[in-house]
Amino acid sequence: MADDIHEIYAIRYGHHERRSSENFIGGDPHDHLSSINYFVWVIKGPHGNFVVDTGMDEAMATKRGRRVDKPIAEGLRALGIAPDTIAKAIVTHLHFDHAGNYDLFPSARYHMQDLEMAYATGRCMCHAQQRWPFEEDDVLAMVRKVFAGRVEFHDGDDELAPGITLHKIGGHSMGLQCVRVKTRRGYVVLASDATHLYRHIEEGRIFPVVYNAADVLGGYKTIKRLAASPLHIIPGHDPKVLELFPVAKPGLENWVARLDADPK
Ligand SMILES: [Zn+2]
Ligand SMILES: [Zn+2]
Repeated sequence: MADDIHEIYAIRYGHHERRSSENFIGGDPHDHLSSINYFVWVIKGPHGNFVVDTGMDEAMATKRGRRVDKPIAEGLRALGIAPDTIAKAIVTHLHFDHAGNYDLFPSARYHMQDLEMAYATGRCMCHAQQRWPFEEDDVLAMVRKVFAGRVEFHDGDDELAPGITLHKIGGHSMGLQCVRVKTRRGYVVLASDATHLYRHIEEGRIFPVVYNAADVLGGYKTIKRLAASPLHIIPGHDPKVLELFPVAKPGLENWVARLDADPK
């Protein structure tokens, strides 16, 4: 395998049933009951295994009225990965569904944007509206990792390994970053919440949890530029990801999909 070509897996660990109108500022003319999925992602390649986000655990899901279908440790083990062997965790942002399970990766160094920590610990958190998607314990756990020397901060775009780059998007959260990964089918962008669903980036719509709407829209342009095609963009919460991409291996249907493979 070339030095910069990676495999990518999406692990769907949970879901939430809601009206589709709840996913868009301005609602949805075709309002219907739909679910959003919760994912973490794994990048596998010549530089080791990376996790992208750390999900939430069952206690957090219960607190937030969400459902964890399979804890993320199970998803990792299904791919033959022991969580305690993960050396690098990329944190796209610190929202409760992306930054929990903070004791699961004792060997990992965490990679996040300067601005996300500034946002989650600064004056914006004085507002309940801005604070809502953050959990105090998740943020404190990351602060403790800073003091333990386990966090690497990035300011804007950066390279983590050949073929793996971080790109600051902002918008949905002040320091939200996405990850571009070189694969055998070209550059794939793990957009995380830079586009929750395919519809957001396709229709220029905005998810209601937002720090700066203009940066959300500007982010769509950046993501399109970074990805080899629209089918190389992986939204953060879209159930369609599991319909579009093949199962990682038999037995993991509706759970783990392979994103460096061509869509079905
Ligand atoms: Zn988010
Ligand atoms: Zn999210």
